[in-house]
Amino acid sequence: MIIKRNIPELRKQISDWKKQGLRIGLVPTMGFLHEGHLSLVDQIKPHCDRIIVSIFINPKQFGPGEDLERYPRDFERDQQMLESRGADLIFCPDNEVMYPDDYFTYVEVEELGQVLCGRSRPTHFRGVATVVAKLFLITKCDVAVFGQKDYQQALIIQRMVEDLNFDVKIIISPTVREPDGLAMSSRNAYLTAEERERAVCLIQALEKAMALFEFGEVHAARLREEMVKSVLAVPEVRVDYLEVVDAQTLQPIEKVDRRTLLAGAIWLGKARLIDNIIIEPK
Ligand code: AMP
Repeated sequence: MIIKRNIPELRKQISDWKKQGLRIGLVPTMGFLHEGHLSLVDQIKPHCDRIIVSIFINPKQFGPGEDLERYPRDFERDQQMLESRGADLIFCPDNEVMYPDDYFTYVEVEELGQVLCGRSRPTHFRGVATVVAKLFLITKCDVAVFGQKDYQQALIIQRMVEDLNFDVKIIISPTVREPDGLAMSSRNAYLTAEERERAVCLIQALEKAMALFEFGEVHAARLREEMVKSVLAVPEVRVDYLEVVDAQTLQPIEKVDRRTLLAGAIWLGKARLIDNIIIEPK
């Protein structure tokens, strides 16, 4: 396993690979890896010859008062997991490497970045788009993979790639879940045992709305009501949002007459959890 912490050394390695005609795949992460991250490594493998996994807790995507300082980390464990899964290189820069003192440039994807998670985290997607643009340019990757768990993020990256003409193929990979259905997330580590049991209420609410839709309910307001009712039945859960939106534009819809995203974010103790499902008329 090759580990690079600075950009000139990483670039040297990448230029060697490029000279050999090898295709580079990138898996951007913030570390504290779980099976969801490792599934991204599996997904990208057939599309490239070398896999770079970046581990960088990007300060620009955390707002004031968010969990930047206490975000979980365990580099040794991450390294072992990636090694056994067949990644080739870890890029783990310090903040100063990515954002020197005189850093001033940002990428902002309008519209898509301002709804859903963007409403309660107004600078989040600007931070995400900026760091991913930098990672694409630094690694010169041919392909990159993002999880559907962060659907809005994946959509924003796809938009950025089109708008800024990045020559990078984007793969979106299915959400990996715990046996009870909870989407795997590094932030699940914040949950107490009791909160962990309750956390499943988010996917259950999305699934209830999906079941209603499958029984013929197409009114978004009814599906939304069902999700809110279902989540609020669980003690100590706070709803950030539960929405029924167009899966392409992320704008609210009245009827499910197209590809539709059921998306939610809830607070449980110190953890803000997100999840989503896509439904579609036959
Ligand atoms: P993070 O480390 O949370 O920034 O996530 C890095 C990448 O892993 C993102 O593309 C996420 O969407 C993806 N990811 C996180 N959790 C999961 C999961 N449970 N299933 C699939 N992909 C995931």
